[in-house]
Amino acid sequence: MSEDSQAKKELAAIKGTKDILPGEVEIWQKAEAAARRTFELYGYRELRAPVFEATELFEKGTGETSDIVLKEMYTFTDKGGRSLTLRPEYTPSVVRAIVEHRLDLLPQPLRFYYMGPMFRYDKPQKGRYRQFHQIDIEVFGEKDPAIDAEIIEMAHSLLSSLNVTETETLVNSVGCKACRPAYHQALRAEARLKSESLCDDCRRKIDTNPLRIFDCKVETCRAVAEDFPRITDYLCAECSDHFARFRAYLDVYGLPYRVDPRLVRGLDYYTKTAFEIVTTKIGSQNAVCGGGRYDDMMKEFGGPDLCGIGFAMGMERLLSIAGIQAPPRKTLYLAYLGEEAKKAGMSLAGIFRKAGIECLVEFKDKGLKAHLGRASKTGAAWVVIVGEDELKKGRYPLKDMSSGIQTEGTPEEIMQSVKDRG
Ligand code: AMP
Repeated sequence: MSEDSQAKKELAAIKGTKDILPGEVEIWQKAEAAARRTFELYGYRELRAPVFEATELFEKGTGETSDIVLKEMYTFTDKGGRSLTLRPEYTPSVVRAIVEHRLDLLPQPLRFYYMGPMFRYDKPQKGRYRQFHQIDIEVFGEKDPAIDAEIIEMAHSLLSSLNVTETETLVNSVGCKACRPAYHQALRAEARLKSESLCDDCRRKIDTNPLRIFDCKVETCRAVAEDFPRITDYLCAECSDHFARFRAYLDVYGLPYRVDPRLVRGLDYYTKTAFEIVTTKIGSQNAVCGGGRYDDMMKEFGGPDLCGIGFAMGMERLLSIAGIQAPPRKTLYLAYLGEEAKKAGMSLAGIFRKAGIECLVEFKDKGLKAHLGRASKTGAAWVVIVGEDELKKGRYPLKDMSSGIQTEGTPEEIMQSVKDRG
């Protein structure tokens, strides 16, 4: 490898991360704006927490036996000798913020949303990154299964505003502290019988966290797990009732779904409802949205006994299936001819921008032809020409770049006609 290409490689973005460049970023902004609008329509408020937290927060919150904590965290020791972790998911941070700021004293339920980067040392592939972005919502203090249905309906409302089609909603109940032990026992017994056919990882999970066997991507493990006992056959009366009412509320919204008794999701803290929205449009990384209930999490954090539920959508996957386009940019290019016109043009640009018109001034002296060529290259919608004669008259030519038609007017008239055609 030449020195030059070696240097380029060293300076390239880290594997599993990517730049979001102009051209693509407008689509992100559009999706983010749609998410904000949707969530705020349902009464959610934004809560921004730091990107890194104490490592113990995730060990405790995400769960010590989860793959995320065992294998995927970006953990480092800071200069003060403290172990910190770049957040792999958002829920533990929100729970910490609620406990820390006593947000539980506010009227409940609490509804929060957030958008931002998450970090996991995952195996990079299409649809799977090490820095990826999630849209996340959380509700605290609402036990009623109607909220479980409402957040799924809200997720669909966002998906449809982004023209995402061909999705399927998978739902399950993963039980609670009362009913899970008996299920774990049955599952362990069956998994031990079949342990010969399971991978090393799954064999380890038999003792640590048998539910996680269902998350295994190895084909043989998946096939064996098909015949394992189903959690839905072990639910206690409370979980069973919650699950039935939740599904009835999904019917109220007219949302089709499929019960998948093997849907356990990758995190340890779920209780009762677990769900995923998958797409049939992309390959193996087909989960666009995943969520569920975590009724014990806050209490286990030493906080109040406040139940919780939420979901996270992966932005990269969402955008790979969203049918949205970046809005066209409408830039007005200000062409000036000579030093006096340059100064006047700079002031004029300020007037246009105050009126909300995107205005571009370039500071390299050029003739009119070069200005027009440059305006066309930048994709400007209009060009205003400021020359000495125009300055004296206070009237300026306005060229519409798509039609080529040129008119003339005062700054006010120009602003009006740009707005009319905007
Ligand atoms: P999770 O927090 O694992 O439940 O994931 C929630 C959503 O985030 C998933 O449905 C994906 O859309 C997205 N997601 C999770 N991990 C990744 C990743 N490594 N790269 C891209 N998107 C991801």
